Amino acid sequence: MAVRKLFESVLERFEGVSQFMELNSRTYEIMKYPKDELIINFPVRMDDGTHKMFKGYRIQHNNILGPYKGGMRFSDNVNLDETKGLAMLMSLKCSLVKLPFGGAKGGVKYNPVNYSEDENRRIARRFTMALGKNIGPSYDIPAPDMGTNAQTMDWMMDTYHNMSNRADESKGVVTGKSIACGGSLGRASATGFGAIYCLKEWCKHNHTPMEDRTYSVQGFGNVGSHAAKKMKEFGSKLIAVNDHTATLIDKNGIDVEKLAAYVAENRGIKGYQPADECEGDENFFKTEVDFMILAAMENRVTEDNADFIKTKIIVEGANGPITPEGEKVLTKNGVEIIPDILANAGGVIVSYFEWVQNRNSEYWEEDVVDEKLQTKTISAYKIVEKLAQDKD
Ligand code: NAD
Repeated sequence: MAVRKLFESVLERFEGVSQFMELNSRTYEIMKYPKDELIINFPVRMDDGTHKMFKGYRIQHNNILGPYKGGMRFSDNVNLDETKGLAMLMSLKCSLVKLPFGGAKGGVKYNPVNYSEDENRRIARRFTMALGKNIGPSYDIPAPDMGTNAQTMDWMMDTYHNMSNRADESKGVVTGKSIACGGSLGRASATGFGAIYCLKEWCKHNHTPMEDRTYSVQGFGNVGSHAAKKMKEFGSKLIAVNDHTATLIDKNGIDVEKLAAYVAENRGIKGYQPADECEGDENFFKTEVDFMILAAMENRVTEDNADFIKTKIIVEGANGPITPEGEKVLTKNGVEIIPDILANAGGVIVSYFEWVQNRNSEYWEEDVVDEKLQTKTISAYKIVEKLAQDKD
């Protein structure tokens, strides 16, 4: 199987949708290209005193609806094509959930796990300096993604803060910060929770209770673990989980809280007990479940493994987890999909709330954030549901 390039997949879907919705050719042409593509090579001092060069990216896809908005990914796999695809998805996502933001994405090509905390801090700070005026609270607002977290955002915000003479507004340069540094309550859980609020709507519409149903989740990082916590609240049972280290299967149910604590300590699910452990993801996809959540990364479901999947509904917590070829197989098999630009929009929705709080020097309670998240998610869900029904 040829490896699918993400930007190519996103463009292919966009072309299909554009024809379907009779999008005018001018908008179609503009949306096909990112406005800016930044590639930055920057040096960082290592703990042993040597210097190493790192490659960073920031793709600013479109800002017609407002400042560019999108995550920063720190991973060995970061590349120009992937970042362009993810940036375009952000433009579409912000538009769908009616946020005053455009779309962007960025990252640094390296694996933070292989570096000390001091080195990671210097990499994040040096990258922020190298980006310079290409980011800003009214221009381009990064957030966490794979390999980055609230700590990374705090370092980025502090570096920007020290380069700017606008202390009143520099907090808003990134979202997903720690609460102490101006983050929003409910941001860390927002993407996972938003995905499950979509699934709940799907269940309502399809007269399917969530209690005592089974589900599987691929990826047990930020998105996957929070989605699983919300699934537990709604009474569903986790029976299969897969990540980059292993697959775990337990028909009696896997304890979500215990697994999350294990992953925080061990950086993966491998070795967790009690559960049957196997290599690779084939058994994960072959495990029959009522619901499946994909919360790892792009291109995990392809024409090679889509036929294994036995579920009614897949929630795309990750960006682009199913290739166009994989999607055709699933559709043929009657598997429904809640698409990424809807299912994982919770993160950018609460990022928007964080940005609004920072601009107005406000601090909202967690239940206020969660209620607003549900309102925005459900109204976007209903738009998609109606369109799906009307257009079959
Ligand atoms: P994370 O780094 O916290 O977790 C990633 C998870 O994916 C880990 O459990 C890792 O083991 C797993 N994984 C990595 N490679 C894998 C592979 N080859 N096979 C199986 N599992 C693999 O990242 P995250 O923030 O949870 O992001 C996950 C996905 O959700 C990404 O596609 C990201 O772009 C998307 N997303 C995240 C947010 C957010 O707020 N964090 C918002 C929107 C979309």
